[in-house]
Amino acid sequence: MKNKDLLQIAEDFGSPVYVYDSAKISSQYKRLTSAFKNVKNLKINYAVKALSNINILKLLKNLGSGLDTVSIQEIKLGLEAGVTPDKIIYTPNGVSMEELEMAVELGVQINIDNLSVLEQFGTKFPKTPVCIRINPHVMAGGNTNISVGHIDSKFGISIHQMPHLLRIVENTKMNINGIHMHTGSDILDVEVFLYASEILFDAAKNFKDLEFLDFGSGFKVPYHENDISTNVEEFGKKLSKRFNQFCNTYGKELTLTFEPGKFLVSEAGYFLVKVNSVKQTTSTVFAQVDSGFNHFIRPMFYGTQHEIMNITHPTKHKRFYSVVGYICETDTFANNKPIPEISEGDILAFKNAGAYCFSMASNYNARFKPAEVLWHNDEAKLIRKRETFEDLLHNQVEVDL
Ligand SMILES: *Cc1c(COP(=O)(O)O)cnc(C)c1O
Repeated sequence: MKNKDLLQIAEDFGSPVYVYDSAKISSQYKRLTSAFKNVKNLKINYAVKALSNINILKLLKNLGSGLDTVSIQEIKLGLEAGVTPDKIIYTPNGVSMEELEMAVELGVQINIDNLSVLEQFGTKFPKTPVCIRINPHVMAGGNTNISVGHIDSKFGISIHQMPHLLRIVENTKMNINGIHMHTGSDILDVEVFLYASEILFDAAKNFKDLEFLDFGSGFKVPYHENDISTNVEEFGKKLSKRFNQFCNTYGKELTLTFEPGKFLVSEAGYFLVKVNSVKQTTSTVFAQVDSGFNHFIRPMFYGTQHEIMNITHPTKHKRFYSVVGYICETDTFANNKPIPEISEGDILAFKNAGAYCFSMASNYNARFKPAEVLWHNDEAKLIRKRETFEDLLHNQVEVDL
């Protein structure tokens, strides 16, 4: 997207506003599928939790994507977007049996990551095919909050519990049609991913009726120029070769599945805010914007460093700023960042604001959640209205006091 397009959107729709470039989502989707072009059956299931606006789900459906979901509500959003149940996988963690039963009724692929749940489920629904989420105990992921494959993780069934797992499958006569792993987000090293894949292949040998192997996600996207990111092409080449070998020895063409969130939508997103004030203190210059971690929590929660553009004055000489929000507690987006000189009223754009940004927004400080705009075929389309005061009161019940 061009600077002037973003600026026009801020003018037409106000700030703060999230903007998503549909062409970037398509090109990322195509980049991933072409990296694995040597695999006969490839399936991409977009991880809905990254960005769950229904128009984004429709866009991905039109590209041929399925969905990876973690709650009943995400499944329902997917169905609402027109994705059929056979293209939806449900990978919950720590949910009730009632929620799993609802997912069975909705007809989606179930993925189970707990032995006690597996036993209960297999006893109740011996005919429903189930995928098993294993924990390969590989330390991967960019941050302790998003690294989920290690030994202390609550996710997956430990590969060391394979004998118990196999006994449950034998006792219940359930049908295991897939093996899954997801070791975490922001994996930097292709070799670590390939090492974890070997553990998945090893686990898969124990099951006769598999249809797919799901390698989860964890692709790292760049946050600035020269930032490290997963070399998808190299990874595609290496894993495809190994996967095809495995299918040969297994005696069946399995489907290779991925479930990326961040890789597909992170770089497509921009978060536009307006500078309310520029405040000089004894130690720094603050640029205070009309938003906060209520709308955009990644810098505070994960320590992410998002590139910030001054789209009103992109060519001014750079000065150092601390960019902060309006929430009444420490609310820092960036410290000591060189940004083209900021005047009050300028519009700033945060990059990489597609994944885990709007989907983690809250109403803290009784603020409205921002609007969302899709940039599609050179046209800006409003895909979520900014909230209003009625929305804040919507579910509150006033009682006589
Ligand atoms: C969050 C999640 C993903 C997506 O991870 P990204 O890093 O956004 O690609 C995939 N699979 C599962 C099971 C997840 O929980």
